[in-house]
Amino acid sequence: MPFRPPTAREIVAALGSQSKFSPKFRSLVDILMSRSPPISRPGPDDWLAQIKETPQTVADYVLHRKFAPSPERSIIYILPLAPFAPPFPPVATLREYLEAFYFPNRVAVLPAVPLEGLGLTTRIFEGRLQIHAGSVVARVAPTLPPDGFCLCAITQEDLYPRDSWSFVFGHTEPSKRCGVFSFARYNPGFPGTPSGSLLRRSCKVLAHETGHLFGLKHCLHYRCAMNGSNSLEESEGRPVFLCPVCLGKMYRCVPFDPLLRYRVLGAFFDAHRTDFPEELEEVRHRLEMINAPPRGDPKRR
Ligand SMILES: [Zn+2]
Ligand SMILES: [Zn+2]
Repeated sequence: MPFRPPTAREIVAALGSQSKFSPKFRSLVDILMSRSPPISRPGPDDWLAQIKETPQTVADYVLHRKFAPSPERSIIYILPLAPFAPPFPPVATLREYLEAFYFPNRVAVLPAVPLEGLGLTTRIFEGRLQIHAGSVVARVAPTLPPDGFCLCAITQEDLYPRDSWSFVFGHTEPSKRCGVFSFARYNPGFPGTPSGSLLRRSCKVLAHETGHLFGLKHCLHYRCAMNGSNSLEESEGRPVFLCPVCLGKMYRCVPFDPLLRYRVLGAFFDAHRTDFPEELEEVRHRLEMINAPPRGDPKRR
């Protein structure tokens, strides 16, 4: 059956009982329900037209996710696979973004590991080197430090998941708490890639793939950072933000103060305002709305 956008009722059902949400988070959910773009019917080449997925509700998430950060294993580690150099963004900047996005979880960077010498499976596809994504995960997953919640390996090389596929943006194995994400095709220097902010594209893929390591499935409720994508065009159109359903899952994983999260995220967007102009505006708007006095007659106390 072709994909059908969810009804308002189905979205409310996906959010489920909000009794585990703080009052501040509950009011954020209201704000996000009014400000998150609805998901539309997919075009013939879009992810949702090609891949059949079932929606994951907040309750499904809480029930079925494999891991959550614990006091002993709380750190999200980024492992750069060398070479990782300009025009690709500084790893420190990517770290900062991921830490803001997954506030209040901590993100740390491991010393870079040279790709050469890892003994990875590779191939030449359309004249370029590609690395087998599963072989990266198999090699680096065991290097996750004991206090690590998950490991995100990043590379500027192109990846493929299996021989029949032409490429893949990222590959995660949540059971191994590990994923590898390639920024190769986000680089305007890559054949066929349109110009655009490499920082913005890299931050988006990093947040999306890390979401999978937290157990988030692709989002079928709104246009959202967790939407699946089949092409660069589709991932370009994917919003930076999580929808209320996906953010609700993150809240149930590790509760947070929405005000603090948006302050940290807003500071990042402000520091990189040429790459995130609309997001900076949106965060400011959300902060104002969260700070606004509750609706009702102010004269009656
Ligand atoms: Zn995905
Ligand atoms: Zn979502």
